[in-house]
Amino acid sequence: MSPLAALLADHDLWDGAACHGLWRFFDPRDEREPDDVHAARVKAAQAICATCPLKAACHEYASNARPKDRAGIWAGISYDIQGRPIRTNKEIE
Ligand code: SF4
Repeated sequence: MSPLAALLADHDLWDGAACHGLWRFFDPRDEREPDDVHAARVKAAQAICATCPLKAACHEYASNARPKDRAGIWAGISYDIQGRPIRTNKEIE
């Protein structure tokens, strides 16, 4: 289970999150995932996040989380396994 899925499963606060059931887009990047596949997945996640009423709270949560607790995609930003933002040329902020 990704960190995001675990968080959303444990807190009613996250009811209404647009990513429920769509975890495959939000999982942390596997080191074997090609750049173009990752960029496409981030773009799909960003489209989902753009519709989410919790985006601001999600971004704040990820920004304040311990780096290793935010691996994956949060509020449209992809973080590596160390919690560092991953930039791609195709990402949209
Ligand atoms: S902003 Fe994106 S990652 Fe965060 S709860 Fe909403 S859909 Fe999920």
